[in-house]
Amino acid sequence: LQLDGEQIKLAIQKDGRLTEATLQLLRTAGLQFESAKQRLFSVCRNFPLAILYVRDDDIPEYVADGVADLGIVGQNLVREAERPVEELLPLNYGHCTLMVAVPRESHIQAVEQLAGCKIATSYPVTTRQFFQERGINVDITTISGSVELAPTLGVSTAIVDLVSSGSSLKLNDLVPLESVLQSQAALIANPTTFKDEQKSIKSIILNRLLMRLNGVINARSYKYIMMNAPREALPSIVELAAGMHSPTVLPTADPDWISVHIAVAEDVFWESIEQLRSLGAQGILVSPIEKLFL
Ligand code: ATP
Ligand code: MG
Repeated sequence: LQLDGEQIKLAIQKDGRLTEATLQLLRTAGLQFESAKQRLFSVCRNFPLAILYVRDDDIPEYVADGVADLGIVGQNLVREAERPVEELLPLNYGHCTLMVAVPRESHIQAVEQLAGCKIATSYPVTTRQFFQERGINVDITTISGSVELAPTLGVSTAIVDLVSSGSSLKLNDLVPLESVLQSQAALIANPTTFKDEQKSIKSIILNRLLMRLNGVINARSYKYIMMNAPREALPSIVELAAGMHSPTVLPTADPDWISVHIAVAEDVFWESIEQLRSLGAQGILVSPIEKLFL
């Protein structure tokens, strides 16, 4: 694969749980490219970036070896691969938990009770570290797929597997015992590509890409709120918008009322609306943000 040197290479999952959200993130960040169907890679039309489509397990390896400069992959695989890659940016999708789970009828209630037992997992490195740190001696069996069937098949007493909603555990009559790792998709980088002076063009491209990705990710985590409020509520409203920017304040026809525009973080959105209403705000108008550069 011979690509122009003034280009950076990003490895993403070809076909799996992260693919759709990853492509959507890149497109929302303004990158134009052909889709992955039947391709090994595509080159962006309007940005010096080539996208490689690979299996997710290979991404930490490719990034560590410099086959790709960047990768988008679950933190769970980064941790498992134990390769020297740098995590640049959590991307806030692909959330899941690596979980210890046991069959309901086993009546096991704590991981300590698993001492001496067989554990089936696709994440042997992370699993070994977890039980070692807890001082619990277990026998780890590595299975590449359908780990949740292992207890039923008599392969293991417990499993360590990825869970998002927990429905797959329920379906197999398994109950979660303890969380090993919280994970989400992240942008990772080769630790040397962007440090080497001679490759500084790559660093400039990376910074442009990071600004775009941040613009999309920040926009997703804020809402823009416009409202009318009694003038005396302003100091409390300013507090609600803390950390973002100073709110925009406009006069209204009524001298005792002002119009205020703020951006509010998604995770405290409903609490903020409740507070604004109790401060006397009216006509609260909420819009999504397309891009946000902090
Ligand atoms: P590939 O064919 O690329 O090797 P895969 O089958 O190994 O794909 P997927 O099942 O597509 O992997 O999962 C990709 C990533 O999605 C996981 O590594 C994890 O970070 C994330 N993820 C989010 N929720 C879940 C879930 N419930 N189960 C498994 N992975 C999940
Ligand atoms: Mg995989």
